[in-house]
Amino acid sequence: MSEFTERDHFWMQHAIRLAEAAALQEEVPVGAVLVTNDEMLGEGFNRPISESDPSAHAEIVAIRQGAKKISNYRILDSTLYVTLEPCIMCVGAIVHARVKRLVFGAYDAKAGAVGSAFQVLDTNKLNHRVEYAGGLLAHNCGQLLSEFFRARREKCKIS
Ligand SMILES: [Zn+2]
Repeated sequence: MSEFTERDHFWMQHAIRLAEAAALQEEVPVGAVLVTNDEMLGEGFNRPISESDPSAHAEIVAIRQGAKKISNYRILDSTLYVTLEPCIMCVGAIVHARVKRLVFGAYDAKAGAVGSAFQVLDTNKLNHRVEYAGGLLAHNCGQLLSEFFRARREKCKIS
């Protein structure tokens, strides 16, 4: 049996649509949705280039929006859906926000901090534990990224 529910699929589909929006703005296509009680608190896509902000990853954008919405820097009982395995910075933000559960799509062999390149959430040194599961709609999430990078390489060849 899959560890993912029908609602997990629903929210990840939404994150994928956000990732597509990032690609249209020539940002690396990653999308994130923050959910509590099956309601969306925040959403975001990757936009460090357009914002000139190295911290403007999809996860951080969604967490900022969610925290603002509830006027609380801790977002208890929430699930964060993101199309790509989070990096070290985003895992840090997820822990600071006290997100309860993290669900991600594609694995990131180079920078993923939830098992691929680093195992940040498996340490016993953090004072907050985040449940996590990866690989949901991984093919769709990953394909967006590979298509994006392939198109960018093509563009470089032409110009
Ligand atoms: Zn990140």
